[in-house]
Amino acid sequence: MQVRNRNRGMPAVAAGLLVAGLLSGIAVDTATASGDGRPSAVEARHPDRPTRVVQIVLDQLRPEFIDAFDMKNVKRLMRGGAAYPNAYLGHMASETVISHNVMTSGMLPKHMGWSDEWYPDDRNLLTPEDDRFVTGSMGFAQFDTLIEDKGYPKLADYLHAKFPGTTVAAIGEKNYAVHTMGGPGADMRITFGSRNADCDDVPNQPDDLTWRGPAGDGVPAYIASPTCGRFYVDADRTLLDYGTLETSPAWMYPVEGNRDVPGFDKAHQGGDVWVTDVAFEVMDNEDWSGLLLTYGGIDKAGHMWGGLNDRPPYPGGDPHVHMAELARIADEQVGRLVQKLKDDGVLDETLIVLTTDHGQQTSKHFFGTDGVGRGNLNWYYGSDADETYLSPQPEIQRLIDETGNVEMSMQDSAIRTWLVDPSWKAKLRAARVMSTLGAVRATYVLKGNRYHLVWNAHRSRWSASEWKWWRKHGQEIVNTAAAEYGPDVIGLLRDNASYGVAGDHGGAQEKVQRIPIIFSGPGVHRGARPRDDMRSVDIMPTVLRALGIPETHWTDGRAYRLP
Ligand SMILES: [Zn+2]
Repeated sequence: MQVRNRNRGMPAVAAGLLVAGLLSGIAVDTATASGDGRPSAVEARHPDRPTRVVQIVLDQLRPEFIDAFDMKNVKRLMRGGAAYPNAYLGHMASETVISHNVMTSGMLPKHMGWSDEWYPDDRNLLTPEDDRFVTGSMGFAQFDTLIEDKGYPKLADYLHAKFPGTTVAAIGEKNYAVHTMGGPGADMRITFGSRNADCDDVPNQPDDLTWRGPAGDGVPAYIASPTCGRFYVDADRTLLDYGTLETSPAWMYPVEGNRDVPGFDKAHQGGDVWVTDVAFEVMDNEDWSGLLLTYGGIDKAGHMWGGLNDRPPYPGGDPHVHMAELARIADEQVGRLVQKLKDDGVLDETLIVLTTDHGQQTSKHFFGTDGVGRGNLNWYYGSDADETYLSPQPEIQRLIDETGNVEMSMQDSAIRTWLVDPSWKAKLRAARVMSTLGAVRATYVLKGNRYHLVWNAHRSRWSASEWKWWRKHGQEIVNTAAAEYGPDVIGLLRDNASYGVAGDHGGAQEKVQRIPIIFSGPGVHRGARPRDDMRSVDIMPTVLRALGIPETHWTDGRAYRLP
């Protein structure tokens, strides 16, 4: 253990033992703050201001999952800190590749450089041609270019300014989540690389390279080496599908080895266990001030099976790749992290933030095509330099045929379409066609820095809760995507409708927008339940305020004072 205790200036091991002694016999979460207003022994000894941040994203953690799947460690974190029951995401697209940058920049998609799963590079920032990009396939250098073009600092930059020489690391299974959560200022962005190794004696076809190792930006040698070491996992698409390739609806987005799930090889566990194990190595080897951890297990289960409906008896697929088990594993990682902070003697100087990048809903009204590997073909329509998705579901085919003007489109719990001819007349025409597609309840077209409502379904076609939420938040949420790179036309769908897979997100529905936001740490009132409508974009300004770091650039967010 090589942890330096910045607050105290005493040797790490001695300080760790001292704190461990103080905390022994009481629950982990009581190390934060006493609830009766009197300073506890821990508080008296240490300042109220955290000097480290651990930001945990459990991808697709719809708030209801916490109780439904009995996530004990998340609940303990909530009891020991402040949870915001009225929190919501507050932007579109409600996607992984968007939100991970929003929450660590305080910028809305319209100001951050990209706002959706497609990015039209009309300003030629990435290549000299007017290329289109699937953002989820972009590398860290491309994201960094878009961030630096806008010129805003991110959490990693602020942590470095306040605590010079410390390490900020972003870690997770999904490369685009890690690259955007960390940003150009992160010292390390550690994720899985492509299948480029053969670490077993299982013969595979057509080649033997089914293993993924650590990759990213600034990956330290103690993680990267040796080849086929602990951080390599078998990501065999066909031998490790856990029954998902032959089971509807999971086969649309099947498990492809041990990237998103731990698997049964104890020496090479992947999924959320891998993320925590990497984080522990970083904690043991670095003087860190920020750990930005994003966990993808729950997201995988939610997309494959639908979410809250994923209960035994299962339609197929190994129980280890269903929601109950993947939620249990994700929750276990939260417990491991808190325990590690305690063991290292730094829990009382760490602000823990737990949130997600979007909620989700079960696709009861489904407009995708159900079949093996259909996920990406349902989600994406269009092509870029190295990817082609030109086999849309019938409803999107109708949009293409009746407008003759679709360049690319993304559809999950909302439809977003970019047009070949983006004239005002053509946009209105495309919106009129989109209004006739299945489950569409409102259509908007891009008009400068906002979206213009073209049409909405009659009040009688909305449920009371759908109507109330849309009237309050619909316009606000679509406007957050309004930039020159935003979609020309947006169609918002009714609740529980999707064009993508069995459980989905992307749109403005309340179930997709509701997210947990939990803070725990020194100075945070135990058990607080503030009524504020905190959004994802408010997280970074709020973290900076808690750490006493002045903002040096405007943000779209609001800095709340933690209770
Ligand atoms: Zn996500």
